[in-house]
Amino acid sequence: MSTLSTEDDGEPTAGAAFLGRLRDFVRDHPTRPPRDRAERLSWARAWHAALTDAGLAAPGWPADAGGMDLSLPDQIAYHREMSRLRAPKHPCGLMGIVAPTLIRHGTAEQKQRFLRPMLRADELWCQGFSEPDAGSDLPALTTRAVPDPADPGTYVVTGQKVWTSQAQQSDWMFALVRTGAPDSRGDGISYLLIPMDSPGVTVRPLRDLSGGAHFAEVFLDEVRVPVANRVGAENGGWAIARTSLGHERATAFLADEFRYRRVVDELTDLAVRTGAAADPVVRQEIARTEAGVRAVAANSRRALDTVLAGRDPGPAASVNRLIRAEFDQSLHSLALRVLGPDAVLGSREPTAPEKGRWTYGYLMSRASTIGAGTAEIQRNTIAERVLGLPKES
Ligand SMILES: Cc1cc2nc3c(=O)[nH]c(=O)nc-3n(C[C@H](O)[C@H](O)[C@H](O)COP(=O)(O)OP(=O)(O)OC[C@H]3O[C@@H](n4cnc5c(N)ncnc54)[C@H](O)[C@@H]3O)c2cc1C
Repeated sequence: MSTLSTEDDGEPTAGAAFLGRLRDFVRDHPTRPPRDRAERLSWARAWHAALTDAGLAAPGWPADAGGMDLSLPDQIAYHREMSRLRAPKHPCGLMGIVAPTLIRHGTAEQKQRFLRPMLRADELWCQGFSEPDAGSDLPALTTRAVPDPADPGTYVVTGQKVWTSQAQQSDWMFALVRTGAPDSRGDGISYLLIPMDSPGVTVRPLRDLSGGAHFAEVFLDEVRVPVANRVGAENGGWAIARTSLGHERATAFLADEFRYRRVVDELTDLAVRTGAAADPVVRQEIARTEAGVRAVAANSRRALDTVLAGRDPGPAASVNRLIRAEFDQSLHSLALRVLGPDAVLGSREPTAPEKGRWTYGYLMSRASTIGAGTAEIQRNTIAERVLGLPKES
C-alpha cells in the first residue's frame, strides 16, 4: 500500500488517465443540481449510479470490492478534480465509514450483497451507535440482540438509538448491539446490519438548531435480524467498531479538504466584495483561516497515512477530527463577521445573502465538536495516547 508524507501535495502519477475520463463523464452528466429541493436526492443518486457504472467511483477501494484501487496521490488528485468539477456529494455520507469496515471485516457474501448498491446509492445507510445513555461512553450501550430460541439463525433486537443521522431516508443501519452480559462493556458487543424496513423499527425525526431534521431517534422493538447480517464474531463488534470510528475520524472525509479549500476562497471573495476585507480584524482572521485549511489538509493526509500503513488510526484520527471541527467553527464565525447584521437572515429567508448558506453553515458547525466524538473526548485521547499524560481517574 502506498504512503504519503505530510508535505507531499499528492501530484497524480503519469498514468492518471482517469482524470480525463472524469472530465468526459461530467461533460455528459452535468453537476448542477435541480432547483427543486425534493428532486435533489434522487438526482444525486442517479448521478452516482452512473458514475459507478462508468467505473469512476470509489477511488480508494480495492478492485475486487468494485473500486478503482488508486494510489494515495491519485486518490488525492481524484478528489481535487471532483471538487473542481463540483461533483455532487455522495448521498450516503456514512458510506465512507461502513464501506471500509465491510471491506476489512465483512464476509464475501456481505461484500457482494452490500458494496455495489451502496456505491450506486441504490441503498442508503445510517449509523446506529449512540444511545440515550451511551454517547461518549459507547461501551455502555444496552440495545440487546438475543438469538431466537425457536430460530437460532435470527437475532431479536430491542432497544433505542439516538442522533441517528439520515435515519429517515436510510434503507440499512449498521449498529452496535449487546450480545454479551449486561456489564460486559466492550467485550459483549456485536456489529449488526439491520434493514430499516423491518417490522418493529420506528424512526422519529429530531429537529435541530438549523430548523431541519438531520437526525432521528430509532426505536427497535423485537426486530428480527438474520445472524448472517452480523459482521465479525459474536461479541467481537467493538474491535470492528474501532475500524468504523477510525475511518469516521480519519479518512472518511478526505474529499472535504478540497471543499474547504474552495469555501475559504469563496469566503475571501465575499469579504472583498462586501468591503469587509478593509477591516484589519477580518484580514487577520482570513490569514488564520488560510493557515487552518492547510493544517486540515496536512493532518487528514497524516491520518490517512496511518490507516494505509495498517496502524490503529485512533490517536492520529483524534488530532485530525479536532482540527477539522474547530476549523469549521472558526471559518463560519468569520463568515458571520463578514456578513454583519445580514447574518441573522437564515436559509429560509428569501432576502438572505447567498441563500443563507453561511448562517446555515454556522449553525451546523456547532455540531462538529460533538458528532463522531466530542472535542473533550478527542482531547482526552490526544492527551493520553499521543502525549502520554496520565489517564483521567
Ligand atoms: C450532528 C450530529 C450527528 C450525529 N450522528 C450520529 C449518527 O449518525 N449515529 C450515531 O450513532 N451517533 C451520532 N451522533 C451522536 C454523537 O456521536 C454523540 O452525540 C457524541 O458521541 C456525544 O455523546 P452524547 O451526546 O451522549 O454526550 P455525552 O457523552 O453525554 O457528553 C456530554 C458532555 O460531557 C462531556 N464528556 C463526556 N465524557 C467525558 C470525559 N470522559 N471527559 C471529558 N468530558 C466528557 C462531553 O464532551 C460532552 O460535552 C451525532 C451527533 C451530532 C451532534
